[in-house]
Amino acid sequence: MGVEQYDAIVVGAGGMGSAALYHLARRGVRACAVERFAIAHDRGSSHGDTRIIRKAYLEHPDYVPLLHRAYTLWEELEAEGGEELFARVGLLLAGDPGTEAMRGQEACYRQHDLPHETLDADELANRYPDFSLPPDYSAFYDPLGGFLRVEDCVRRHADLARAYGAVIYEGEVVRSWRGEGDGVVVETDRRRLCADRLILSAGAWAVPELHRLGVSARAVRKVQLWYGGRGVERYRQGELPCFFIADGEHYFYGFPAQEPWGLKLAEHNISHDVVDNPLELDCELRPNDEPRVLDVLSRFFPALEPQLKKHVACMYTLTPDEHFVLDIHPECPAVVLGAGFSGHGFKFATVVGEILTELALDGKTRQPIEFLGLSRFA
Ligand SMILES: Cc1cc2nc3c(=O)[nH]c(=O)nc-3n(C[C@H](O)[C@H](O)[C@H](O)COP(=O)(O)OP(=O)(O)OC[C@H]3O[C@@H](n4cnc5c(N)ncnc54)[C@H](O)[C@@H]3O)c2cc1C
Repeated sequence: MGVEQYDAIVVGAGGMGSAALYHLARRGVRACAVERFAIAHDRGSSHGDTRIIRKAYLEHPDYVPLLHRAYTLWEELEAEGGEELFARVGLLLAGDPGTEAMRGQEACYRQHDLPHETLDADELANRYPDFSLPPDYSAFYDPLGGFLRVEDCVRRHADLARAYGAVIYEGEVVRSWRGEGDGVVVETDRRRLCADRLILSAGAWAVPELHRLGVSARAVRKVQLWYGGRGVERYRQGELPCFFIADGEHYFYGFPAQEPWGLKLAEHNISHDVVDNPLELDCELRPNDEPRVLDVLSRFFPALEPQLKKHVACMYTLTPDEHFVLDIHPECPAVVLGAGFSGHGFKFATVVGEILTELALDGKTRQPIEFLGLSRFA
């Protein structure tokens, strides 16, 4: 078994790890990542074509400064070449104005002075005639929202990291890591790696480490569904932005129809099937996966006669409060943890990569991440 020496090692080159590797390499650090599968694979949490991005964040006000930085970094990443990553198509947020989601959204727009329009059912009907809103619902149009092409983002980070000199060991599994002196030793199924710093960004595979640190996280199965069929052209990009529907306490989100798969729709906060072993994620369509989504399609997208074109299973890694964990490892200061992104992390991938890099190399970050520290679970 060979031994290789790096300044920094990243475990897992998915959404967050590929971004961290890019930022490490951009700072001139000799860095590598170990990734169990291929770059932009479909076995973790960063696949399924698209991810919603928005700046107004009712989940916690402290995410907004992170999003300002994330947006800047997405622009920089796009400017570094290649195809567009961020489709700036806007976002429609619809729901009962009395719900926590809609009230929180409005408060967030006001608190952070973010651009938005408030639309009632009539105004919405004028603008999006084939999107049907119950008369007692209202909507916000958020011009800063849109979607990221998720696999392209992962690939771009990985490709540019390589261009800056980083190494990626694909199809290789990290079996263990330990602190040694001021640094770390990592054993993979092929080699031993030594480094000054280690970034753990293992997605759903981080659950056992989170448990060990007292965080009762869990990985859950989530299904994304794509529909074509008669009428789908009325919901294509240009006719409709991305959308988020707070249907009572049930949240759904989706993307305008695109070739070849059509309109994508998924539920956010219901049906959390726990995945004990991420390697055994059930990718088959289950009888329970579709009915609620079909119900939303029939009520909000009446011009569509839906035909299922594609489904994809993916995992959320939920922490108890559904906020991320970004922190230095309490038992080993050479190790930084980025985990528990709780089904809403991808839009932050650029800034998370930068934060993980700063924590690893500088021992601190410029970003306000106190609310994401491990001590909140103590
Ligand atoms: C269905 C769905 C919809 C979502 N929608 C949105 C959205 O609209 N907007 C948004 O912002 N976010 C969204 N998210 C959340 C977002 O996609 C995730 O938070 C983010 O992708 C998590 O990235 P990650 O790097 O933590 O995990 P991953 O991308 O899964 O990366 C972890 C990587 O670690 C590797 N790995 C693990 N263990 C090892 C090991 N021992 N050795 C080597 N490699 C290892 C894995 O193979 C994997 O590639 C959604 C998530 C899902 C599942």
